[in-house]
Amino acid sequence: MQRLDKVLANMGFGSRKEVKKLIKCGAVEIDDAVATDAEIKVDPEKQAIKVNGSVINYRKYVYLMMNKPQGVITATEDTRSTTVLDLIDEEHLNFCPSPVGRLDKDTEGLLILTNDGGMNHGLTSPRKNIDKVYLAEVAGRVGMKDVELFRKGITLKDGYKALPADLEILEEAAISRVNIIVREGKYHQVKRMFEAVDKKVVYLKRLSMGNLKLDEALMPGEYRELTDQEVERLR
Ligand code: URA
Repeated sequence: MQRLDKVLANMGFGSRKEVKKLIKCGAVEIDDAVATDAEIKVDPEKQAIKVNGSVINYRKYVYLMMNKPQGVITATEDTRSTTVLDLIDEEHLNFCPSPVGRLDKDTEGLLILTNDGGMNHGLTSPRKNIDKVYLAEVAGRVGMKDVELFRKGITLKDGYKALPADLEILEEAAISRVNIIVREGKYHQVKRMFEAVDKKVVYLKRLSMGNLKLDEALMPGEYRELTDQEVERLR
């Protein structure tokens, strides 16, 4: 059971203050009876809640795709830095979404946010080994020798043996451009893999996670809801 004003605010009918006004005006009905108490507990999955005569299409979860910009941290709160949640509007914030996995402050690209704990766990569980594709710009020439090393599973400087990763060389140059597919999400995973071959990642962008690709129409800092099909593909 949830408070009526919270349900309506989550559904985008306005802030808590605004939905309280709606209720006061008699615009909200629960099972065909006009609601008078904003704090009354309701079960939106079982009860018919109407606003201005129309039944609300209740949903429990929200699924967002953000193109995370550089300079923003993947956290829910921080006293010094802007967090990814600072970029989310109130309508979606009301669902209390959390980031799925983590991108470094200087990494940009695909970040999923959701309040669906089951999906979050499924996508980040070390046992699932979900593919994550990154575009990386790397100082130094990345060649076939690196492709081989990464394919076999590179040993990081701290002795950890990374799972096999696929490198696709887009440009072999003083600053090389590659696509890299990794199957785990350890701290600074991609940067540390390149450090292991004495190269430095100078730019990193996540392009996809599992079956979900970053919508390139999203500018850094923008986000949108996932479509139902996109949510299904992630399950
Ligand atoms: N690997 C990294 O090194 N950083 C990220 O942000 C993501 C993967």
